[in-house]
Amino acid sequence: MSFCDLAVSGVANLQPYVPGKPIEELQRQYGVRNVIKLASNENPLGPPKAAVAAVAMAAKEMARYPDGNGYALKLALAEKHQVAPEQITLGNGSNDVLEMVARAFAGAGDEIIFSEHAFAVYGIVTQAIGASPVVTQAKDYGYDLDAIHKAISSRTKIIFIANPNNPTGTWLEPEKIKLFLEKVPEKVLVVLDEAYVEYLNMEENSVPWLQDFHNLIITRTFSKAYGLAGLRVGYSLSHPEVADLMNRVRQPFNVSNLAQSAAVAALGDEAYLQQTRDVNQAGMKQLVAGFEKMGLQYIPSRANFITVNVHTNAFEVYDELLYEGVIVRPVANYGLPQHLRVSIGLAEENQRFLDALSGILGRG
Ligand SMILES: *Cc1c(COP(=O)(O)O)cnc(C)c1O
Repeated sequence: MSFCDLAVSGVANLQPYVPGKPIEELQRQYGVRNVIKLASNENPLGPPKAAVAAVAMAAKEMARYPDGNGYALKLALAEKHQVAPEQITLGNGSNDVLEMVARAFAGAGDEIIFSEHAFAVYGIVTQAIGASPVVTQAKDYGYDLDAIHKAISSRTKIIFIANPNNPTGTWLEPEKIKLFLEKVPEKVLVVLDEAYVEYLNMEENSVPWLQDFHNLIITRTFSKAYGLAGLRVGYSLSHPEVADLMNRVRQPFNVSNLAQSAAVAALGDEAYLQQTRDVNQAGMKQLVAGFEKMGLQYIPSRANFITVNVHTNAFEVYDELLYEGVIVRPVANYGLPQHLRVSIGLAEENQRFLDALSGILGRG
């Protein structure tokens, strides 16, 4: 007997999510020292100091369960976004929230739409609940909203859109998304995954749409610009009824007290966020200039990473980079076998990556 026969069919057919290689694992397996990781779109500045202090305080309370309702964090988020706390659903990372949407609103026989080259978690949560993935073709590596609109059927329950998208960094203009929302039937939920929105350097624009589009769910995370990936905290903003339904499938204590405290502190640290944007902008310029010097094509990105075409088997280049102590992300599992995704690091990290890459490819 194979246990695969016992698993629900969506799960038996799933490819496990492949995370960025942890630094310790590379040191252990390859014996390489002085490793840099530019593989998981983490904040290269490390966590905000205020969050570290908040965690130290909260640590004294770790014998107790966290506030399952996330009162203080929801209050801070409601203030920031000018929404009611009832519109907020907290997640153990925004991945948790994405899964709650799927579990609360779709099941066997339902369809969930997302794009080619889109975030892997959409496919995982779809298959895990026995729903059918409907994958639309990408346009210039990004989302083709017309193709997505055409793919809507009577069985469609959810549409996942990441803006900017991971792993391509492509971005859709807000006006285009708004026009799209106007065309989508109200009974189809649209999840706008804005994990990288803080890097756009522009005014908030999607949150006010919640008033007009009750089927809209916006997801955000503390893992990227807020520098708290290891603590696992994210959230969604939606219609209160949608939030209430998601809350019914939520694990009661899904966000730890350490994570909640850190998130509140991080929200208050504007200077850290600005420094994050500055470092990202400078690093993006540095990498783009390096790619152009090497004659490599790249996908223009609005996020904290950039995906570059190495014009050869990217997995082999990835592996050679590992021997140089540089961890990046191969993206063949996203349908991009000749591309590598590189998270923007500190200037010296970006330089080490560029030097190693140009050595490996023999371009310079
Ligand atoms: C990184 C990322 C997330 C965030 O995941 P967390 O669970 O919040 O760490 C969500 N969506 C996309 C597209 C991402 O790239």
